[in-house]
Amino acid sequence: MEITRIETFPAEIAVRSEVAITSSRGKHVRSPYLIVRIETDTGLVGAGEATTMVRWSGESCWTAQSVIERVLAPALIGVDPTDIAAVDRIMDGAAVHNWFTKAALEMACWDIRGKLEDKPVYELLGGPVRSRTVPARFSMAAYDPETAAAKALERVDWGYTTLKIKVGTDPEEDVARVEAVREAVGAGIALVIDANGGWNAETAIRCCRQLEGSNLSLVEQPTPIGDYSSMARVRREIGVPVMADDTCFDLVHARELLRHEACDVISVYPGKNGGIRKAAEIVQLAEEHGVACTIGSNLEWDVATAAMGHLVIGLENMQVETYPGDILGPWYHHERIVRQPLAIERASCTVSDRPGLGVEVDWAKLPQLRP
Ligand SMILES: [Mg+2]
Repeated sequence: MEITRIETFPAEIAVRSEVAITSSRGKHVRSPYLIVRIETDTGLVGAGEATTMVRWSGESCWTAQSVIERVLAPALIGVDPTDIAAVDRIMDGAAVHNWFTKAALEMACWDIRGKLEDKPVYELLGGPVRSRTVPARFSMAAYDPETAAAKALERVDWGYTTLKIKVGTDPEEDVARVEAVREAVGAGIALVIDANGGWNAETAIRCCRQLEGSNLSLVEQPTPIGDYSSMARVRREIGVPVMADDTCFDLVHARELLRHEACDVISVYPGKNGGIRKAAEIVQLAEEHGVACTIGSNLEWDVATAAMGHLVIGLENMQVETYPGDILGPWYHHERIVRQPLAIERASCTVSDRPGLGVEVDWAKLPQLRP
């Protein structure tokens, strides 16, 4: 089989205002994406998505489009899309980084391979190791304490038993926000905090000590990107599991995290890690070192969320039962782009068992969503 054509569709949609995210990396009120369509000489078509938050990964829908159209697509025409390792090798030879951009093309190749073999992608990854209904946590913006407490109660009412609270803005406000949420929801709800690299080691250790009474379950990305030693120091001193997210794009980063014993959990997802295959490599490496993984998110739309779901269902070390992940992206928006959207309700996301990624993109709708 050969790739014959690659098309790209920039799209931008609003985040539902009542759930818009504010973190140490700013406000997320609109979501830009690049949806890709790979055609083959067999007539099989694959869909992919680059989730392009430029403030987060350095990639925008325009850089993704340009890199694909000018660099990656010309290198991939004529290549067998079912040989994913070769697709990765060719893309890495043509351009460094551009994780979300490459992931869009890579997941489209998995989509094609699944359709060819008439199997969902999780079967191609080794078969389902857990239910297709994946438990999720709810991620809350860095609201003022009173608003955070009220919203937390509402989320618990929606069925969430794990809440993630954004911190890493102002340390005093961070502590007050988490304490207010704990007081509101009581002892039975798991609380996770995510600083998105907004604290340094001293601040993280001080805040976590002040929050000892709030019984945190997990501290996500307490310290700056690339600072493995600081994260390891926080982990040694706070007595709460630490998760690496913003600092782990590829296998080199994962190795450094393990070498520094910097974390108990690594957040992975196909977009951030450059594709399903590369994310799976990190999950396996972590497993060999006794480190758990779970699913992270950049507020993906329907296609990339499906790719995330397959990774969770196909790999044992995606420990979503212990560390519920972020897999609600489409729910944050009113606009959907596939004909059979993933079922996201009551704190979980159910992944399709149809072949490939299991989602069918409404291609005709995309030009109307062009930014
Ligand atoms: Mg995070």
